[in-house]
Amino acid sequence: MATDTKREHQPVKGPRIRKGLVVVNTGNGKGKTTAALGVLFRAWGRDMRVKMFQFLKHTGARFGEKRAAEKLDIEINALGDGFTWRSKDMQRTEDLAREQWEICKQAILSDEHDVIILDEFTYPLHYGWVPVEDAIETLKQKPHMLHVIITGRYAPDELVEFADLVTEMREIKHPYKEQGIKAQPGLEF
Ligand code: ATP
Ligand code: MG
Repeated sequence: MATDTKREHQPVKGPRIRKGLVVVNTGNGKGKTTAALGVLFRAWGRDMRVKMFQFLKHTGARFGEKRAAEKLDIEINALGDGFTWRSKDMQRTEDLAREQWEICKQAILSDEHDVIILDEFTYPLHYGWVPVEDAIETLKQKPHMLHVIITGRYAPDELVEFADLVTEMREIKHPYKEQGIKAQPGLEF
């Protein structure tokens, strides 16, 4: 036990490579965005340059993470008109997502960040608003040490194939479905 707590790294076979990773948090269970926020918090603690882009979420939304980010002086960029299934104007939702992807691309290629989160970016990919090839091409050109975390359901197979780290959140129970309990502030938004 004592040796375990002392050991900082797991033993690995082969060379230890330092490299920015492409991470995907997908699946139907809860925790995709919050896991990404956990990394953001951790990296921020190390004075790394972090930035989050939220797709689909309303530009003016003041979710808990947005409030925290302001207090911590972390940039969260949201450009959207709310969730897709509530959108009255799908064309606008789509256009905003495309527009935001162009901003993300610049950020990814700029070499000004150490961690970039593309929250709910799987949806524009899934619905074909942003071509998966375009996303992968951009990720191929990212700065070597930059970590990019993509969240959302229905991650396209090509992206899963390309990513270094993919986690599927699996729903076992959710209070909304089991008990009709609505989203709780702090825990969910
Ligand atoms: P979180 O932001 O809490 O980490 P998430 O990013 O994994 O959740 P999303 O698909 O982005 O999940 O949905 C966000 C909202 O939907 C949250 O309020 C979350 O509790 C809720 N949610 C997530 N999974 C489920 C589910 N399986 N059934 C019902 N609601 C869910
Ligand atoms: Mg989410």
